[in-house]
Amino acid sequence: MRLIIMGAPGAGKGTHADIISKKLLIPHISTGDIFRSNIKNGTQLGVIAKEYMDKGLLVPDEITIGIVKNRLMEDDCKQGFLLDGFPRTIPQAEYLDKALAELDMKLDHVINLNVSDDEVVKRISSRRVCATCGMIFNTVNSPTKVEGICDACQGSVVQRADDAESTVRERLNVYHMQTAPLVNYYSTKGIVFEIPDIDGIEGKTELIFGLLGIA
Ligand code: ADP
Ligand code: ZN
Repeated sequence: MRLIIMGAPGAGKGTHADIISKKLLIPHISTGDIFRSNIKNGTQLGVIAKEYMDKGLLVPDEITIGIVKNRLMEDDCKQGFLLDGFPRTIPQAEYLDKALAELDMKLDHVINLNVSDDEVVKRISSRRVCATCGMIFNTVNSPTKVEGICDACQGSVVQRADDAESTVRERLNVYHMQTAPLVNYYSTKGIVFEIPDIDGIEGKTELIFGLLGIA
């Protein structure tokens, strides 16, 4: 299956993308994770991406599209993929359409996680992430067993640099201006599943699996 997961920052894209990609055995491609690992490894791309990310702005399309292009050409994407955080602008979506058409592939579904701005701000302030393996925690709903230590790999669990409240507000602005219009773009193709912000990760997972027919 070829899927996109969309939603505002903090909507739970990363969490649900992990669950879905494990269930379907397809690669989970997160442009945010790719940028963060480049930052961690001190690459040239990381240096550039950090400048934008720390301000809550999008990394320029030319850079982002180039990365996704290379990633989609890897062998593991032949069986399908789940894109998380890409596309985020109309030009990125247009590029993706073109690239998939060239490969004689098409998107199956777009999963759109709905969440209010107030909920985003609340949720992101309690979000924590493992600096080593990327596992996501929440100080309120899903805390680590030992404070500050990852349950999965014992790495240190920290707040993302761009999860500071002022940066979150800017990311929300950017989301409404540049990314939300994509829901319409895909709705006209009739492939969007709207997921309401019902309580709990399990409830939403069940709903998504049902819609994808993989329950
Ligand atoms: P969130 O959806 O919670 O903001 P992500 O990890 O998806 O988290 O993205 C973090 C940051 O990485 C974004 O604010 C942006 O700066 C950059 N980024 C990720 N994906 C893209 C993309 N497709 N285009 C441009 N910038 C991106
Ligand atoms: Zn970890």
